[in-house]
Amino acid sequence: MLGSTCLEYAALDLGSARELAEALVRFETLTYEPAPTPEELAEARTLRDAVSRCLKAVAGGAPLLRRDVETLNAFAADETPLVKLALDGTLVRVATDAVRCALSAVARDAIELLARRGDNLSACVGCGAIFLDASRGKRRRWCAMQRCGNRAKVAGYRSRQR
Ligand SMILES: [Zn+2]
Repeated sequence: MLGSTCLEYAALDLGSARELAEALVRFETLTYEPAPTPEELAEARTLRDAVSRCLKAVAGGAPLLRRDVETLNAFAADETPLVKLALDGTLVRVATDAVRCALSAVARDAIELLARRGDNLSACVGCGAIFLDASRGKRRRWCAMQRCGNRAKVAGYRSRQR
C-alpha cells in the first residue's frame, strides 16, 4: 500500500544492520536479507531522518526543508530492485546493490506519499508517530487504536476510577 513502507520506515530505530536488513524484507522491497555495511546503515539512518522530518512537516502544515527534499531525491534517483517471477510462481526481488536499491524504493514511496497523500497525514496525539488518515474529515487521532487509542482509553478509565 502506498506510504505504509515509508511510514514504518520513519519509525525504525535502526540500531543495527540486522534490523535494517529485516525491515527491508518485511517491507517487501527485497525478498532476501541483505548484509548492510556500516556505511549503508549510516545512509539508511540519514534517509530515515529526512523521511521523518518531511512527514512531520507535511502533517503539521510546515514547509519542507531543502536538504531533506534533496536527500529524498538523491536516494530515489538510484535503481530499485528488479522484480522477477520464479519457476515456482513466487515473486523475487533482487538487486546487485541490494541496500541502496531497497532504500531507493523507500524514498520513492515517501515521495509519492508526501506529494499525493500529504493532506491525509496526521500526527498521533499519543505517541507523535505520523499516520495516514483516510477517514472522512480526517478525524482520527491515534496512529493505531490497538496501541495508542487503547492506552489512552485505559488511562481515561483509570483517572475516572480515582
Ligand atoms: Zn500513537
